Amino acid sequence: MARIVVAGAGAAGASIAYHLSELGAEAVVLCDRGSVAGGATAKAMGGVRQQFSTPAEIKLAQASIRFFEELGSPFFDQVGYLFLATTEAGLDELEERAELQRSQGVRVVATAPSAGVRSGRRRRRLLARRGR
Ligand SMILES: Cc1cc2nc3c(=O)[nH]c(=O)nc-3n(C[C@H](O)[C@H](O)[C@H](O)COP(=O)(O)OP(=O)(O)OC[C@H]3O[C@@H](n4cnc5c(N)ncnc54)[C@H](O)[C@@H]3O)c2cc1C
Repeated sequence: MARIVVAGAGAAGASIAYHLSELGAEAVVLCDRGSVAGGATAKAMGGVRQQFSTPAEIKLAQASIRFFEELGSPFFDQVGYLFLATTEAGLDELEERAELQRSQGVRVVATAPSAGVRSGRRRRRLLARRGR
């Protein structure tokens, strides 16, 4: 008889069931009212990032990366993740989030089109010159 039943066989439920088993839990059953990976998980494109906007999300993403790294290539190749700002307001938001992410140990660098890494002021001038 199952001692633990995890309801919902998407990425979250599957991960919970897997880690419970890894921790030694016995008779873990993963069930779903529909089909396995029939929800949002089936639609995900496989993008992996750490640039989230709350410390809890960032910590969870960092733990996931450690797990994915164990899988290694060809299942997981780290290539980075890019967010584009097309407005000054968007740039401000990304910079604010980047500060939080750096404080949590995420390596985030700012870059501008065809310019490599630039300082905040130079990037602002660049955006201003382009009328954004
Ligand atoms: C188009 C799209 C693209 C995405 N791309 C990415 C991406 O590139 N990278 C990324 O990290 N994330 C991506 N996501 C987000 C990602 O898919 C979700 O965050 C993730 O799959 C959520 O997993 P979940 O297990 O919480 O939910 P779900 O996969 O939705 O699983 C929930 C499961 O619970 C079941 N369920 C619900 N209620 C019950 C119940 N009462 N009893 C039993 N079963 C129940 C449902 O049938 C479902 O199967 C994308 C999402 C979408 C829609």
